[in-house]
Amino acid sequence: MDAEVKPKGKSEKQAALEEIAREVSGCKNCTLHQTRKKSVPGTGHVDADIMLIGEGPGFHENEQGLPFVGAAGKLLDELLSGIGLKRADVFITNVVKCRPPGNRDPEPQELIACNAYLDHQIQIINPKIIVTLGRFSMAKFMPNVKITQVHGQARWVDNRLIVAMYHPAAALHQGSLKPALEQDFKKLPGMIDSASQRSEKSRPEQTNPKPKDDEQPPAKPQQLTLF
Ligand code: URA
Ligand code: SF4
Repeated sequence: MDAEVKPKGKSEKQAALEEIAREVSGCKNCTLHQTRKKSVPGTGHVDADIMLIGEGPGFHENEQGLPFVGAAGKLLDELLSGIGLKRADVFITNVVKCRPPGNRDPEPQELIACNAYLDHQIQIINPKIIVTLGRFSMAKFMPNVKITQVHGQARWVDNRLIVAMYHPAAALHQGSLKPALEQDFKKLPGMIDSASQRSEKSRPEQTNPKPKDDEQPPAKPQQLTLF
């Protein structure tokens, strides 16, 4: 093994995540790079069971280079602590890594341009469950569904458990969504347990036997459809 290419004390996965962060910081694949101050690749635990995917950096995130550091982030921290978790226990990122000006919605071509970074992060972290926050990250995994109808329901998509939740910012603007968001978060520990039972976190590079078809849970499998 080549000691020079592996920084001491850092796992290969950590190094791979840092490489993505480096690529993102110099990325010009979409026009959002023109107005970014700091790119926001995402932060958290490299072996997190839970990955949370939001929409895109806002004002404060663009200043600090960290996801969910504004008001929505404060609510996210409260939701996590409600289930005994800290930010460092999970991995938090967004579907676009640079701030859409004025916090406008990300454009389809921006989502497409940025998608490979997110897919690579998912591949490296291999979380047991992905929580989508808001409709843009939900649409990556579950196109053509309504968040009002599917929030808080875990679904197997491309062999991974995905649960759509309201965006914390939406819950701040529309207080009636907050109890639903809190209740959906409370379901996460149980969902992780069921994900663990289905598959022993089989990683592509490992040769764990795959669960037999008759061991699959009855949840509706869906094809991963990108945009
Ligand atoms: N909203 C998001 O979707 N992502 C952030 O990082 C911050 C606010
Ligand atoms: Fe690159 Fe994504 Fe930033 Fe666009 S939003 S410049 S694709 S990192």
